[in-house]
Amino acid sequence: MSFEINDIVRPNIRQLTPYSSARHEFSGEASIFLDANENAFGSPLAANVNRYPDPLQLALKEKISSIKGVPAGNIFIGNGSDEAIDLLYRIFCEPGKDNVILYPPTYGMYEVCAEMNNVEVRKIPLLENFQLNLDATAEMIDANTKLIFVCSPNNPTGNSMHKADIETLLNNLNGLVVVDEAYINYARQKTMIPELTEYPNLVILQTLSKAWGLAGLRIGMAFAGEPVITLLNKVKYPYNISTATQQLAMEALNNISSVNNWTKSTVEQREWMAGQLLLLSFTQKVYPSDANFLLVKMENARKIYEFLAVRGIIVRDRSKVILCDDCLRITIGTGDENKQLLAALKLYKA
Ligand SMILES: *Cc1c(COP(=O)(O)O)cnc(C)c1O
Repeated sequence: MSFEINDIVRPNIRQLTPYSSARHEFSGEASIFLDANENAFGSPLAANVNRYPDPLQLALKEKISSIKGVPAGNIFIGNGSDEAIDLLYRIFCEPGKDNVILYPPTYGMYEVCAEMNNVEVRKIPLLENFQLNLDATAEMIDANTKLIFVCSPNNPTGNSMHKADIETLLNNLNGLVVVDEAYINYARQKTMIPELTEYPNLVILQTLSKAWGLAGLRIGMAFAGEPVITLLNKVKYPYNISTATQQLAMEALNNISSVNNWTKSTVEQREWMAGQLLLLSFTQKVYPSDANFLLVKMENARKIYEFLAVRGIIVRDRSKVILCDDCLRITIGTGDENKQLLAALKLYKA
């Protein structure tokens, strides 16, 4: 199938003349900037925040490029992954006409953004083994299916999706397959970044919110072919990432060794916690995880959630979510936090 981006973009977006910011129109060398109505005297902060930020975050993209092995022209940076998710809807999905496919149980924002944008959601539950149901997908796809969201490793089930299945989707959809790799640093399975050169309809989402320890900074990344990146840049707010955020992210990305150490500890703790949780009489199942959390099936999960909450330990109750009956999603904490959780659970009487 030959993929042509213009066939799937909303006509109003294709025709849109984007806002052209002052900082965008002039990008050469200069010393006097009287083009953006900024306060030339300075700012109450020591930092140079009296000036508008780089709308395309080029320095930060170069840094991310060197770490991820993706050319800067194939990178979009958003105010969290959620900005990229919302923009994909606004660029590709005609409200009231187009549809997207989701595989519950999965990350909640795909559906929230669909509803905000009045886009039809076609839900195909994961199979019993938490993998993609390709037969049902083939039946659900039609000419108006613009996006398929695949979360891998998946939140809240923790598993990675089979790469061959994702490639089947990529080969058969005349729309975008969005692979959300928020937890990829913790996974045995490798990123699909190398596949970007092969599939013009692949979008990969990653974030600095999880392994990188920067959830408060709000930096999400989309990796995709240049036509998709150009559209994301066209539709985003001109100054979506603040100067302070860009500078702090640059600093953080120089500190890759502590991130690697935390990731290694988290994976070790995850495997240790899986074993410890299995020893509890009321634990029914600990699902294998490629992420920094465990999905655990326990007798009367809601009661256990409340028992822990009273003791100041908050886990995520997923017991009302499809395929997650009686399941809690437990984030892996520090060694000390994990021990305190286990100690509290040992006091619980089933
Ligand atoms: C946590 C998470 C994100 C991160 O979102 P940000 O907006 O970048 O913080 C994205 N996708 C999934 C599946 C997540 O669990």
